[in-house]
This record gives sequence, C-alpha cells and structure tokens, in this order.
Amino acid sequence: MSKKKYYSPGDSAKKYLSCFEKGLKKRNPNETEFHQAVNEVAKSILPFMFDNMSEYEKYLENKILERLTEPDRIISFRVTWEDDKQNVRLNKGYRVQFNNSLGPYKGGLRFHPSVNQSILKFLGFEQILKNSLTGLQIGGGKGGADFNPSGKSDREIIRFCQSYMTELYRHIGANTDVPAGDIGVGEREISYLFGQYKRIVNSFEGVLTGKDTDFGGSLLRTEATGYGLVYFAESILKHHDRSFEGEACIVSGAGNVSQHAVEKLIELKAKVISMSDSKGFIYVKEGIDEDLLEKIKKIKNSGKSLSDLKAKKVEYKKDGKPWGLQAKYAFPCATQNELEEEDAKTLVKNKCEGVFEGANMPCTPSAVKVLNKGGVFYGPGKAANAGGVTVSGFEMSQNSGKISWEREKIDERLKETMKTIHDKCVKYGASEKNKNIDYAKGANIAGFIKVADSMLDFGIN
Ligand code: GLU
Repeated sequence: MSKKKYYSPGDSAKKYLSCFEKGLKKRNPNETEFHQAVNEVAKSILPFMFDNMSEYEKYLENKILERLTEPDRIISFRVTWEDDKQNVRLNKGYRVQFNNSLGPYKGGLRFHPSVNQSILKFLGFEQILKNSLTGLQIGGGKGGADFNPSGKSDREIIRFCQSYMTELYRHIGANTDVPAGDIGVGEREISYLFGQYKRIVNSFEGVLTGKDTDFGGSLLRTEATGYGLVYFAESILKHHDRSFEGEACIVSGAGNVSQHAVEKLIELKAKVISMSDSKGFIYVKEGIDEDLLEKIKKIKNSGKSLSDLKAKKVEYKKDGKPWGLQAKYAFPCATQNELEEEDAKTLVKNKCEGVFEGANMPCTPSAVKVLNKGGVFYGPGKAANAGGVTVSGFEMSQNSGKISWEREKIDERLKETMKTIHDKCVKYGASEKNKNIDYAKGANIAGFIKVADSMLDFGIN
C-alpha cells in the first residue's frame, strides 16, 4: 500500500504553512499568543526545510513541527488558599510540560493575573528552543497561576505557594521537571515552594532553580538574565565593530531582568536613560548611575512603583511607554507584546540601531517587520534572554554534584554561552541575499534542529 503524503514535493513552504496553521488553530482555538509564537517559528523553519529538502525532508515526513507544537501534557489545577481576612480564595494553577527531548522539562513559573493556558503555551514553546540554544541538557516547560502577588502580604504569599506546591509536587522532580522563577516569582517565592516540596516529599533535591545560595542556589542566577542579555547584545555589536560606550539606551521594565541589564550596561559605560513599570516610566537625561540604580532596586523590590522614586534629575512620566525617547539601542524587558508597530516606527525614525529582547516576545510581529525593514539589529528573546535558564542549568549541575561553583567561573561560562548562541544565530541567520543577519531566523533554526534530530532518534512518539 502506498503511503499518503502530507505534502507533495512540489508544494511551497507558503502552502504548507497555511495548511499547518489551519490545523494548529483548529486544535488550539482562541490561543492567540500561542499562535503568534508558533507562527514566528514556522515562518523561518518551513522555508529552510523546503530550501534544503535533501537534508531536511525527514522533518516533514515525520511531522516534527506538528509534534513539537503539541505539548507532552498540560496539568491544570485548582489552588485554594486563605487571605489575611480569612476569605477563601481560588486561583487557576498550571504546568505545561512541553517537550523533554533534550532533558527534564525546564522553565519558569509566572504568577500574574494575565496568566492563562495560551500564554503559558507560548512561553513553554519558546522555552524549548531557548533551552536547546544553550547547549545544555534541558527540555522546555512553563507554569504558573493567575494569582496577583501585588499588594499581598508575606503570609498570603506563603499560603499561596504552599497550596500551589501541594498539587505541583507530584508532577515534578530533579530528573523530571525543574521549575524556576519568572514574572511574580523570585527568590522568596522559590524558597516557599522549595520548603513545601521537601516537606511533602521528604527529599532534598534540585527540583527548583533560583534558590537561595544557602540551600543549593547558584551564584549569579539572579543577575543571569540581565547580564546575559547584555553579553548577547554586545556580541552583536562586536560582530559589527561597535560598542556600548557612551551610547544612549532605553530599557523598559524595572524588575529583575531590567535591573541587571542596566547594571551591566552601566559597567560597559552605556547611558541608560529610562526604566518603566506598569504605571509609567522614568526619563533620566544624563543616564542612570549606580546610586540611582540602587534606589530603584530598593523601591521595586519592596513592591512600590517608580512614581515613588524621589531623586534629582529623574523625570517621571505617568502612563505611556519609553519608546519615543531618543536612543541608539533599546531593551524591552517588561512583558510580551509591549513594543508595537507604531513604537517600532518611532524607534526607526529616531535612528535606533538595535533592539534586544530581555522579556519573552516583547515585540509584536508587525513591530519586528518594521525593525527588520529599518535595518535595526533585532536580538530575539529566545536567544537574547537565554542567560537566565543557562545559569539555572548550571544550578542543576551543581546540585547533582552537591557542589558550588565560583562566581567568576559562572560568569565566564555565561559569557561563553551567550557568545556561542550568537554564533549559532549567525550560522543559520546570515544569507547572501540579505546583508543584515536575521538573528530571529538563526535562533529558530539552530534551536529547532537539535530538538528535531533528537525526536527523530526516539522514533515515533
Ligand atoms: N523564566 C526564565 C525564562 O524565561 C527562566 C527559566 C528557568 O530558569 O528555568 O527563561
């Protein structure tokens, strides 16, 4: 009996993409963020396969893209807890175990009211390719809850984390699934979650990363995403004979990623003129210095807003976003889809030369199009912000050997990893047709090939 082909060799990548997307939307209705993340990847992977059929037809024949876009499983559960006024409260908790071809599922937990299945699937999908790019043995996953930590007391956070872990513990493990932090989940929450895990399981193991260094956390994990972002951006600049010295930079966000990106940019003598939060942004014409950054950290880490910052030479702009400021480079580090088409047009008009994503998918697809057309270097999140999960991977290695590495060694390895990721992007993103390197295409293809080849090796499952 002859085999029915899902595609015919005469088909174009475009035709295949439209058929693939129809199926994806039918199987995952109303999950717009997930569709967006998959579309961005499929648009680079499919033409690459069709242009190199002799080598990559095997991916089409084995429906690797279709298999890779269906999570291994999604766990969704009720999280019940009691607030300080003794009200019974309910939230939806999740863990998306997306793909474990390269290692245990690995990815953060996000506690934010916007969390839903679509957002966690987009993040989990991105995480598979990001983790593959690091070259470490880590698969992709993501989880969280639609819980809003803002304004909650410490005791409320404890009760929520304990309730969340009381369900999650049965699905995770040092060799199964290793969650970490993300928006709304930092070292404090990881400690509460870890405390509850070891209490239930009666086992002290590296089941979460981002822990306090007193009980198995890695040095430099807190700084890793922000530092890694700047190392990656620096690799792009070096590749084009440029540097950050004296250059104005816009940074959005004021959380962990932004704080450490700004710290590293100051060290490299860049002039960081903005940071932002959900209520507005600050403009610092002369650039944020170390003292001001310390003040910002204090304010943000105590749950306050940038509007509470009292410092000379800081202008506070209520509402709005910082993308209209005049700067050479921009670092969106807040959240998904925060930089839209109009913002990208403004950046291009203001002669911005590079946009590097500290957050996951902060630029909308139409914004990316505008940046590419405007000849702006574009460092996609899955490559640019891979530093966090890289040091999480280092934490897993340290935990399994029950040892601690020195800070210098970790920083050196982080730098090397970001440079290697840069080089992989160049390998698959450079083309003769286009003189600009397409870092997004390069990251997608390099990340995909490693996972796809492993999936082929495992047979049909
Ligand atoms: N949430 C981070 C990310 O988006 C870190 C994940 C981890 O360390 O596992 O990559």
